[in-house]
Amino acid sequence: MTRDQFIEDYMATTGLPLPWKIRGGVNVPGVGRRMAVPCTCGESTCRGWKIVTETNDVSATAPKA
Ligand SMILES: [Zn+2]
Repeated sequence: MTRDQFIEDYMATTGLPLPWKIRGGVNVPGVGRRMAVPCTCGESTCRGWKIVTETNDVSATAPKA
């Protein structure tokens, strides 16, 4: 599975509109970027990619300690 295929499948299953797709991930307005990165977990269900969230403003969303 290519990175683009994984991203588009992720967007379809989570209901994100295709215009939000950016190079290598999804840019969710008001939330941040969700980027597809190679996954090496080795699980049998693994498709070789995973989504990680990059928030635009970490301080605004960081959990309180
Ligand atoms: Zn994995």
